[in-house]
Amino acid sequence: MVQQSESESRKLLSRLQAVMAEPVEGQERLDRITHLIADSMGTEVCSIYLLRDADTLELCATQGLAPEAVHVTRMRIGEGLVGRVAKHSRPINTANAPAERGFRYMPETGEERYSSFLGVPIMRLGERLGVLVVQSKDEREYSDDEVYALEVVAMVLAEMTELGAFTGEGAALRERHKAQVMLRGGCAQEGAAMGHVWLHEPRVVVTRPVADDPAVELDRLRAAVDRLRVDVDRMLDHVAPGDAEQREVLEAYRMFARSRGWMRRMEEDIARGLSAEAAVEKEQSTARARMETVPDAYLRDRLHDLDDLSNRLLRLLTGQGRDTGAELPDDPILVARNIGPAELLDYGRRLKGVVLEEGSVGSHAAIVARALAIPLVIHASRITTEALNGDFILVDGDEGVVHLRPEDAVASAFRDKLAMQAAAQERYASIRDKPAEALCGTVVSLHMNAGLMADLPSLPSSGAEGVGLFRTELQFLTRNKVPRRGELAALYSRVMDAAGGKRVVFRTLDIGSDKVLPYMKPTEEPNPALGWRAIRVGLDKPGVMRMQLQALIRAANGRPLTVMFPFIAQFDEFTQARDHLLRELEREAALGRVLPESLQIGAMLETPSLGFAPRQFYELADFISIGGNDLKQFFFAADRENERVRRRYDTLNVSYLTFIEQIVNRCAETGTALSFCGEDAGRPVEAVCFAAMGLRSLSMRPASIGPVKSLLRRVDLQEARAVIDHARGSGAQSVRPVVMDWLRRNA
Ligand code: PEP
Ligand code: MG
Repeated sequence: MVQQSESESRKLLSRLQAVMAEPVEGQERLDRITHLIADSMGTEVCSIYLLRDADTLELCATQGLAPEAVHVTRMRIGEGLVGRVAKHSRPINTANAPAERGFRYMPETGEERYSSFLGVPIMRLGERLGVLVVQSKDEREYSDDEVYALEVVAMVLAEMTELGAFTGEGAALRERHKAQVMLRGGCAQEGAAMGHVWLHEPRVVVTRPVADDPAVELDRLRAAVDRLRVDVDRMLDHVAPGDAEQREVLEAYRMFARSRGWMRRMEEDIARGLSAEAAVEKEQSTARARMETVPDAYLRDRLHDLDDLSNRLLRLLTGQGRDTGAELPDDPILVARNIGPAELLDYGRRLKGVVLEEGSVGSHAAIVARALAIPLVIHASRITTEALNGDFILVDGDEGVVHLRPEDAVASAFRDKLAMQAAAQERYASIRDKPAEALCGTVVSLHMNAGLMADLPSLPSSGAEGVGLFRTELQFLTRNKVPRRGELAALYSRVMDAAGGKRVVFRTLDIGSDKVLPYMKPTEEPNPALGWRAIRVGLDKPGVMRMQLQALIRAANGRPLTVMFPFIAQFDEFTQARDHLLRELEREAALGRVLPESLQIGAMLETPSLGFAPRQFYELADFISIGGNDLKQFFFAADRENERVRRRYDTLNVSYLTFIEQIVNRCAETGTALSFCGEDAGRPVEAVCFAAMGLRSLSMRPASIGPVKSLLRRVDLQEARAVIDHARGSGAQSVRPVVMDWLRRNA
């Protein structure tokens, strides 16, 4: 066999390219390619095996083996030497194939005559497409150079497969992208949606895998890598000094961007005839294949970094980016590895749903998706490799399931589900202007939670009586610098305008814990949920809070104003925050500004401690709102972001309900208005139980108002209370089973 020098590799690639350009049918093209490779590499045999389905390889073309075996010989992944190359995504190089472990004799191919065997995987971005094999009669191992040369050829073949150069039975990839895929992830925002895939960052398509002039390609690669390094350095410069985590990620990026090994491998690929982008993709592919087999999570993350970096480099080299010229479908379902809150807001309500490969329940993207009420499934592994732009897709945010290219039966069951939801919406619309009056005559007032200007149109359509919680942090989270007072005042004023005189409870900035501002100097905290967050930040560094309070007073401009302070854990935090507000009022008055017509100052009860605060706290607060999301995590000591424990304790647990009852009673003693604004208020069964415990005001996502009102109107709260009390007396852990049973019979 001829040694494969770099220049021979280049010659082979350009001959390959010429074959690819010939106007012949797919099979003939494959045949010519195998002939060409065998000839150029001086081997008796060259064969191409392609994946027929997820686990079957088929001999699709050969030079040297029996022609009758083409499209007949098949093997499973892992079976025989060819199957093992595919399984482990690694070359097998042996001088004596029949003696090799795993060798399987295929009589129809006549291959027993060949001794040496070299097989390399055909992969595209870590995805198996097939195996390329050369064989010879002489008993010799192939040199590293030859292995390398064959890998480069396999890379070019992979690109050509993707480009549709191979048609007919070997087009395993295309077949695969037609098949239905069901992925299970996590729910981050409920709701169901049906639509077409819109890839946030479409894959870069390498249209020119082979290049004529390696010197030009080397220059292109080096220029792009230089730009990449500058970009990474710039990103590092922008990391806030204390943000150790982001710094660590970017340091790893920088390390990879400066990796000599990575650069050297790509330079070698280019020297053998690949274009710069094909070289990047070849190394990315190898890293991806490794990613699947690395058990260590830390190392896997680092390989992910390398993957990200390769994507950036590919975009720099090809000029391809997000704008591929494709049009956003009418019913877009956004598919991405991950997405930032600002990017998600840019898409806004046009999106029907979002599916992320990564993400977390507490991520900013999830907060935005929740605010926009867009179903969101996270941790849908492989979705970005499986999905193609325009694919039909179903997103079930309630179950955390995604169906990509669903079969008709699945799609029609899903349509039924959507129709049932739509019918329910109609029922809710019919009671929109009616009160949430239970059969016993008790009326519960229902309000909505909001955080964006875009939420306000839901106020009239949902039937909410007002905004029970306006989370002000979203304007802070989605910008890269602190918003100015004037901007905020204008925004808050527009929110009040849009509310048309209905009450809006503005909660002052609740940051820290999971909500970290990009421009805030982060502090390394062992347990951020228990750390320096919300009012603690507001009181220790009052500048931003005071600015926000001024903006609120100015926005009210003579209208009533309601302000709520988050995460109050003891009385004096409330008095101090309240004093800040009163001082700002005095200042504004001194400046001659119009003061609010009336002012209500409330506190969020999010830590159990406040349930035991002195009576004077309850007397001073104009109102209290239970932040159940936080309260529950502290009550049960179970992190609301931790998938392992967050569902472990039931909201209808007897201890928790009893604690809520205690807060209701304390507020009743002092005549303090009380509401509940955590997510649980929007769950109909929970809402009924809260109302039965004495809560008369609930605030929830606008979409939950219909279902909650509908159930409240069908039950007698006194009966509900009796059922709950009976369960409490029986020593039950949760009242849910008996309440559900009672509802089934009575609602
Ligand atoms: C809560 O904790 O219940 C709450 C409403 O606040 P957030 O979810 O914004 O922390
Ligand atoms: Mg909270």
